[in-house]
Amino acid sequence: MGFIQRQLQTAINNMTDWASTNGFIFSPQKTVCMHFCRRRGLHPDPDLQLNGSPIPIVQETKFLGIVFDTKLTFRSRIKHLKTKCIRPLNIMKVLSSTSWGADKVSLMRIYRSLVHSKLDYGVPVYGSAAKSTLKMLDSVHHQGLRIATGAFRTTPIPSLHVISGEPSLELRRRRLSLSYFYKIKSDESHPQHFKVINPIFGSLFSVRLSFTPTFGLQNWENLEQHFYDHRQHYSDYVPIYTDGSKSDNHVGSAAVFPDFTIAETLHPFCSIYTSELYAIFLWLLKISTLNFKKAIIYTDSRSGINALRSAKHNKHPLVMQCLHLHHTLKKTKIKYCWIHGHVGIPGNERADKAAKSTNASRDCRSLSYLNIEYGKESGTGSQTINFIKCSLQSKVLNLTIRKHDVILTRLRVGHTFLTHRHLLHSDPAPICNGCNCILSVEHILCQCKNFYSQRQAHFGAHIIDLIDILGTNPCVNVFTFLKEVQFFKFI
Ligand SMILES: [Zn+2]
Ligand SMILES: [Zn+2]
Repeated sequence: MGFIQRQLQTAINNMTDWASTNGFIFSPQKTVCMHFCRRRGLHPDPDLQLNGSPIPIVQETKFLGIVFDTKLTFRSRIKHLKTKCIRPLNIMKVLSSTSWGADKVSLMRIYRSLVHSKLDYGVPVYGSAAKSTLKMLDSVHHQGLRIATGAFRTTPIPSLHVISGEPSLELRRRRLSLSYFYKIKSDESHPQHFKVINPIFGSLFSVRLSFTPTFGLQNWENLEQHFYDHRQHYSDYVPIYTDGSKSDNHVGSAAVFPDFTIAETLHPFCSIYTSELYAIFLWLLKISTLNFKKAIIYTDSRSGINALRSAKHNKHPLVMQCLHLHHTLKKTKIKYCWIHGHVGIPGNERADKAAKSTNASRDCRSLSYLNIEYGKESGTGSQTINFIKCSLQSKVLNLTIRKHDVILTRLRVGHTFLTHRHLLHSDPAPICNGCNCILSVEHILCQCKNFYSQRQAHFGAHIIDLIDILGTNPCVNVFTFLKEVQFFKFI
């Protein structure tokens, strides 16, 4: 502390000297000293002076609108932020409950400009706070989304995110922090630039997992750190890495086990996608001959993982073979995990190398034949993503009557006053008196035998599919139907 104190005092003296020769004065009333420190136990604060008067030591101070505390927990900042959001949320409440009401799109705009702007400010700084502290802000976010969409109080949080088209605050913070990180990385004149491209603190945080990285340092740590957290969590699973590789005249697949590596060369016509799927296939084939209880596969092929996940709709022969193998493995519990390629995970780099330098050739004429039949298979991954995006976009609809807007939201989520009010009073779930089953949105709209004739009249069929009336192009007759069966008021 003695050393720090001398250095700081010299700096203060230099600054006050410069200020007095240039006609400025630092105000002693507005100057405070904070001791940022994670050390516990008795520990002296520095004794600093400004023009002969002592600089007071404080535990908290506001700087550029953010409250800092000595342990950088940002608890005060977050509490303060939460209270600041109450007013705009109240404005939204008033707007949403009027009969001339603002529609969902306008309310979401108001939410983004009045509340999100507050939450976003300073994220790269306060985002390093503990998860439990940051969670305090979630209630603000959820309340805002609930008011804007009109979703019923029992609506599950993930449904709320989908119906409003807004991600969770945690994802939002991560995105903002990453874009800040890349901004620094691309700007050589930024004072933090060389720290970002040359992370000297990197190893410190990967060793001490319990340690929350201070602001700015967390970003480049994220990917590697996540991987090590994941490994720790699944430490009883044997890790195996797979990779595929394609260059001008070589296509190869490899699987790296803890003690050995298997690799094969494929026909040069095969795509990178096939080589990655084939690496997974090789792995599954090998594991069926071994006695592992639990094993985890790490691949950097997102399209490969996606293909296995949506295997029901994916008729790619290798996907089907992988799936078949997966189901025949009774002894081994298997998990699949996607990892970021080329971020320095040793197993992944070994697999990458092995796939590039395979010698063992395999006669895979049948493979390449199927492959060619499949045509532009490398696009599979992006198609899936596009599909999800389209279906999300179409969910943000604009209806002119607020009441209809809210009803459609609630029907789509499946949580309504009629079917879920009992949760708020811990009562039993309501029962349909005609069919003797639990009352649900799907039951009323599609199945209930009491309403055959009304369904015929409004939808043109006595049994219908939920997607047809609530999907991308919702059927407007749903409102008249609900009115006729006298449920309109209870949604
Ligand atoms: Zn200290
Ligand atoms: Zn019924």
